[in-house]
Amino acid sequence: MKLSHTPVDTLEMFNRHIFVKRDDLLHPEFSGNKARKFAYFLEHDFPGVTKLIGYGSPQANSLYSMSALAKLKGWSLDFYVDHIASHSKLNPSGNYGAALANGAHIISLDTLDDRAGRDTHTYIQEVVLPLEANAVFVPEGGRCEYAEFGVSKLAAEIAQWAKESGLRHLVVFLPAGTGTTALYLNKFFVEQEMSIQVLTCAAVGGSAYLTQQFNELSDNPTHHPEIVTLAKKYHFGKLYPEFYEMWKTLSFSGIAFELLYDPLGWMALEQYLSISQDDVPILYLHQGGLLGNETMLPRYRRKYGD
Ligand SMILES: *Cc1c(COP(=O)(O)O)cnc(C)c1O
Repeated sequence: MKLSHTPVDTLEMFNRHIFVKRDDLLHPEFSGNKARKFAYFLEHDFPGVTKLIGYGSPQANSLYSMSALAKLKGWSLDFYVDHIASHSKLNPSGNYGAALANGAHIISLDTLDDRAGRDTHTYIQEVVLPLEANAVFVPEGGRCEYAEFGVSKLAAEIAQWAKESGLRHLVVFLPAGTGTTALYLNKFFVEQEMSIQVLTCAAVGGSAYLTQQFNELSDNPTHHPEIVTLAKKYHFGKLYPEFYEMWKTLSFSGIAFELLYDPLGWMALEQYLSISQDDVPILYLHQGGLLGNETMLPRYRRKYGD
């Protein structure tokens, strides 16, 4: 099972070469940054644990990755969601369908009569966990200190590659959800005193929210990656014609990207490059998530055609 040491490719975008770290080429069952974030669980033993508990959106990449992790560990997975759209229930596909096929129990809070207005996280804390002595609980999107273990290994891989390639400076660019991957990457480079800078953009909830997430993971501001902010506000999971155009342009490069984070990531990178004066080499981190295209691409095609 390939869970580290992915290759670096080059593509042409915005009239320059950009390196792409191909974490989409980790094992297909356990790919992208979730494999990095969950590596701690794979590489350690958890005596007595029989269940993994998580929550988030029924189409989240983390749902599928957690189902793969549970399967590999021989654990069951209880994944709590706020609700499930009726078309997903009728036609399970993408991350949701693949997680069900892996045996995930996807529990929809809107079908429970003891919810009492609680959000998913609160419900799990107050109702579920007190009764689950043999479970490991992972917060939404794998936002937890466990993630540092695998993400630092990714950072070390990038540092090693930069050294072998004779690059004295490097910018690593990646779009952020919870910001966990970006923060632990940057923290590693700062602590190792390397001339590698992490740049990111907020795909979920905006730049102020992302800074808040960074603060929860590290109160040392030098660990925080620089955030590139676009003038227009984009809502996570919504469809935008400029996202689709960017995705199609990227597809011509020969590397397939996903449709939730990557279009925004490349747009933010384009903006950064249009303003920045120097020509430091750029490494874009491909964080996987391609299974989500199974549901996102038909939505885009219905709305904007091919
Ligand atoms: C989960 C995910 C992200 C966001 O990662 P964070 O560590 O939460 O910032 C970005 N891209 C893809 C493809 C993902 O699956």
